[in-house]
Amino acid sequence: MDSQDFREFGKAMVDYIADYLDTIRERNVIPSVEPGYLQELLPKEAPAQGENWKDVLLDVERAIMPGVTHWHSPYFNAYYPTANSYPGIVGEMLSAGIGCIGFSWMSSPACTELEVIMMNWLGKLIDLPEVFLNCSDGPGGGVIQGSASEATLVGLLSAKEKIVKDLRKSNPDLTEADIKGKLVAYTSDQANSSVEKAGLLASVPMIHLPTDNCILRGETLREAIRRDREAGLIPCYVVATLGTTGTCAFDNLEELGLVCNEENLWLHVDAAYAGSAFVCPEYRHLMKGIELCDSFNFNPHKWMLVNFDCSPMWVKNSQYLVEAFNVDRIYLKHQHEGHAPDYRHWQIPLGRRFRSLKLWFVLRIYGIEGIQKHIRTQIDLAKHFEQLVCSDRRFEVATSSMGLVCFRLKGEDNLTQILLDKITANKKVYIIPCHYQGKLVLRFVICARTTTVDDVNTSWSEIVFQANEIIPRSQIIVEAEKSKLDTLGIATSRDPSNILMEKSK
Ligand SMILES: *Cc1c(COP(=O)(O)O)cnc(C)c1O
Repeated sequence: MDSQDFREFGKAMVDYIADYLDTIRERNVIPSVEPGYLQELLPKEAPAQGENWKDVLLDVERAIMPGVTHWHSPYFNAYYPTANSYPGIVGEMLSAGIGCIGFSWMSSPACTELEVIMMNWLGKLIDLPEVFLNCSDGPGGGVIQGSASEATLVGLLSAKEKIVKDLRKSNPDLTEADIKGKLVAYTSDQANSSVEKAGLLASVPMIHLPTDNCILRGETLREAIRRDREAGLIPCYVVATLGTTGTCAFDNLEELGLVCNEENLWLHVDAAYAGSAFVCPEYRHLMKGIELCDSFNFNPHKWMLVNFDCSPMWVKNSQYLVEAFNVDRIYLKHQHEGHAPDYRHWQIPLGRRFRSLKLWFVLRIYGIEGIQKHIRTQIDLAKHFEQLVCSDRRFEVATSSMGLVCFRLKGEDNLTQILLDKITANKKVYIIPCHYQGKLVLRFVICARTTTVDDVNTSWSEIVFQANEIIPRSQIIVEAEKSKLDTLGIATSRDPSNILMEKSK
């Protein structure tokens, strides 16, 4: 393919993507395929001769799209969002075009330097204490990791090396193996599965501490540390979550921070989803105590309009990362070492992408106000959904936090399970369940950037439509409630698939 073909293929692809996103509401959010479907549609071998890009593009629509779950449909209300914006997409394109590998400053100076600057911009944007920024005098700094999972593991591996050094300084007789065999780490029973995985990968048992209404408290941690020290173990690392995956609960960072500082434990903060809300001053009280932690991570690739992957991590002392991960070779050395970070020492792989470009594009093209507006709009939409749930007596709201509302049908879990099965089988709305205080609840998340009040009403109509088949409205609903729904503008009696069809006309 020469550059002329690239111009045509690339422009056709931009049109394809814009059309796809403009008309995404017309597609079922959940695909109708069975495992192995693609094997039927594609040849068994790669083609011997090169093909025309137009044929490839046709096959995208024929073979790939039928098997895509549409994460950017407003009716995708599962998991948490994954970001998608036009500036983010174009940033990805330029990153691929430049195609550099920024493992050291010398390997592509702009790649390192833009990342340093973006980590300062972003850190200031969410009001991180100065000590975490590259632009402060001390050893703090930020780096873009590929995922929150990696950040949690990088924190744990650094904490592990740090505790070995600390203990051997005061007890020279202890061997590294003595210490490493006794390490333990803590998180809450609400932590993301990736936290448990970090423990497995680092060979450090990750203990899940009980929570108080999904929140991990300082006393619980203090008690666990006391118990484990008595048993001869060496506590070294704590992962606190700001915005848990289940219900978007916020651990008490201030209490945990004080315990970790007193006990010399590394405190890592996983704010993968909810960290983006800290661009809005009104949510920053939820990160109170942040100055007590050692590392902080969130995912602009979830809720801040930067396409996957972009998971910034800030540390108070980058020296601990560099000491844990520094492996040098003659071919990696260069004369400017020490003036700018060689980011290969801050991460697991050697190679790294030019990820800061898409972040730069998003921050410049949206501006701080644009990003704040995005977060506030999405939280308002979740509040609207919560009101809808409250307006129907068959349902109850379990929790509501940020862009996530957990709700259920009143009564036994099996009613909620049947509702979920019906919604999933109909493929128009995608939601997933979780457990809250021993009960099954459904998580409804505002995900797509383009979600409107109308879209939320449409998702709710589908939920009501399916619920009507389990508990007919006539049994429950009273006139007063019906009029309440009318004021909210909800067409409760209509089949939501009609609404979808009307919209697509
Ligand atoms: C989504 C999520 C993660 C995992 O994020 P990745 O970037 O995919 O690794 C970790 N922690 C929490 C709280 C999450 O919500």
